[in-house]
Amino acid sequence: MAFRRPAPYVLPMPLEETRRRMITLAAAAIAAPALGRRAFAAGEGEADVAVIGAGAAGIAAARALTDAGKRVIVLEARSRAGGRAHTDRSLGIGFDAGAAFVHFAERNPWVEWAERHGIELLPWKGWMHFRPYSGGRALGEGYMQRRRRARESFWSVLESAERRGRDASLAELALSLGEDGTVAVRDMALLSIGENPERVSGLDYAALWDGSDRIVPLGYGTLVQRAAEGLPIRFDCPVSAVHVAPTHVEIATPAGVLRAADVIVTVPLGVLAADAIRFTPGLPLETVRAIEGLSMGALTKVALRFDGERFDIVPGDDFVVIDFASGGPMTFEMWPFDRDIVIGTTGGDTGRALGAAGGTEAVYAALDAFAGVVGARARDHFVGGRLADWWHDPLSHGSYSVVRPGHLSARAALAKPVAGRIRFAGEATAGGAAMTVGGAALEGLKAAHAILAGTH
Ligand SMILES: Cc1cc2nc3c(=O)[nH]c(=O)nc-3n(C[C@H](O)[C@H](O)[C@H](O)COP(=O)(O)OP(=O)(O)OC[C@H]3O[C@@H](n4cnc5c(N)ncnc54)[C@H](O)[C@@H]3O)c2cc1C
Repeated sequence: MAFRRPAPYVLPMPLEETRRRMITLAAAAIAAPALGRRAFAAGEGEADVAVIGAGAAGIAAARALTDAGKRVIVLEARSRAGGRAHTDRSLGIGFDAGAAFVHFAERNPWVEWAERHGIELLPWKGWMHFRPYSGGRALGEGYMQRRRRARESFWSVLESAERRGRDASLAELALSLGEDGTVAVRDMALLSIGENPERVSGLDYAALWDGSDRIVPLGYGTLVQRAAEGLPIRFDCPVSAVHVAPTHVEIATPAGVLRAADVIVTVPLGVLAADAIRFTPGLPLETVRAIEGLSMGALTKVALRFDGERFDIVPGDDFVVIDFASGGPMTFEMWPFDRDIVIGTTGGDTGRALGAAGGTEAVYAALDAFAGVVGARARDHFVGGRLADWWHDPLSHGSYSVVRPGHLSARAALAKPVAGRIRFAGEATAGGAAMTVGGAALEGLKAAHAILAGTH
């Protein structure tokens, strides 16, 4: 019988708070748009550039524009900056509920930003001792070797698909590699893209940038949030509509209507796809098709805090449970930065199911899987857990964007300016840098520089 510790041991879930908050905000906006929300003061309702969303893209854009002397206002639905880069401290130990790895460090603007502001970054040494388990049983070196060989063969399959320009799904491309290849590619897709391989474009995946990774002891989310300090951000301010008038744009918020010459829209692709913001006149067909050609993955994390017991596992000695929840895998990152915390990660439909189960169930499912590896005493040393469920978060609707097979041009099409005044920017438009905090910032900067250069 599965062990269940009483619910109070599990702390409240941060993203569920967001969900509740959105419902309250929506109800307030419908009942009395100006009540309880400070309306724009005189002069505050006008800007040269409005930026919607205070994640990595919005922050980078707003910084570049304010540095250039533009009047900017950032409209953010949450009461914090950082978006999907968020360091959660509710377990008493910080962990990155969203982005954690500073990818392609050689060209990632956050590396320079961290150096300039004295924020420590460490090289990431990779998964050093990744030990696989199934049904609580350690799988041998032979298993690992087969999986490694299958993954290596997959790179050749991808290269040949690139040469032929055929945009099949990752799942279809893996078929030629037999069962080992199919399972290796499925796990890679679930754990690194957060989506089932049949929904991921092979050619978009092949185009993703390579490079070395860094990790941030302070938290990647905190690093990004620091960059937002001092910017003109209006929090708790969800945008519901953008109207393009002949000389400006009008942006509807609970604080009133904001007028700006240009707008940079950095909300996640999932928010655009859910039609959470109404555009008038309607978006051009090319933009609508671009949004339809993309979808959101569901990388999902569960953090488990322990009381100092390490179960004879050293940091870097990470493992993966192959058959977590209906066969999907879950990785366990052990004691990051030597802290008493374990980060479970899964994705795709397994991540969605975990989120749908709710915080308490998800935490105990992860604890059960962990106990299957280290033994039942994991439960005696468990202090509390936290689910980071981005799929059910209405301000993200998923972890990061994925190109559907056959829609390779979607990211570039979404990046095209609309009506000379609207620019979409964020990880979804970032081409080879998509799905990352670095890519989002580069896209924010690109949009800002285009406005400064007056290119429409
Ligand atoms: C679990 C997980 C793990 C990840 N791991 C990594 C990693 O290791 N490395 C990496 O580089 N990337 C990683 N990512 C991806 C990375 O977090 C994102 O690519 C990046 O943060 C996106 O930045 P953005 O500015 O495009 O969007 P966001 O950060 O989502 O910012 C958009 C903002 O818009 C706001 N918003 C939404 N709707 C509205 C509205 N109607 N009105 C106003 N504001 C609104 C949101 O609240 C949000 O703050 C991960 C993501 C997740 C979820």
